[in-house]
Amino acid sequence: MRDQATLFISDLHLDPRRPAMTGLLLKFLEQPAREAEALYILGDLFEAWIGDDDDAEPGPTVAAALRTLTGVGVPVYFLHGNRDFLLGERFAAASGVQLLPESVVIELAGEPVLLLHGDTLCIDDREYQAFRAQVRHPAWQAQILALPLAQRRALAGQLRETSRQVAQQKATDIIDVNLAEVDRVMLAHGVQRLIHGHTHRPAIHDLRLEGQPAQRAVLGDWQEQQGSVLRCDASGWRLEPFTDA
Ligand code: MN
Repeated sequence: MRDQATLFISDLHLDPRRPAMTGLLLKFLEQPAREAEALYILGDLFEAWIGDDDDAEPGPTVAAALRTLTGVGVPVYFLHGNRDFLLGERFAAASGVQLLPESVVIELAGEPVLLLHGDTLCIDDREYQAFRAQVRHPAWQAQILALPLAQRRALAGQLRETSRQVAQQKATDIIDVNLAEVDRVMLAHGVQRLIHGHTHRPAIHDLRLEGQPAQRAVLGDWQEQQGSVLRCDASGWRLEPFTDA
């Protein structure tokens, strides 16, 4: 029986070095995702994604589990994060997941809601935005995807190391969203509600947009012992932990 809740997750950063996290996702996909009206994955499902032709774990296991879920009729939508932006049509076909554009307005309980990964809101991090413009360019992606897998693996390792070092140096307020940009983007899309991930700062923020009440939900990142889920149903929005217990 469906409970008419729409579920949102992001920032699992699944990685072969942390199999317990993949295990926790598999439990989540078996239950409670099976009872959901729909599941939205708002990016950074994987710590790295170097192309749909890479058959290394946890990709195939996750694709199969998503296929089981979509196979029983639960629609699953995927919006790219800054780690898994190369995830493409082949993974979508294998898993039954529907790929979304980088920003999309959906209707939830009769209201328009904007969905984003969240990295585009962090405009104070100019260095990252320049990097993003480069790697989200179709020509750059085509060039990378044409490289042999071994070379792409090495490149992904380098990028991850650079990103780790850079993140340690940056002031925390630079890595968070720019609140003026949040307002601007919500107004531009004509919404009073926004859901995003990326910052790993889970919260439901009440704000005012042109004098009207508005809401911004930030999804939480997953840990090996505990996931984070936004549940949206008739009673409102709630951030809930998900555990294996
Ligand atoms: Mn991210």
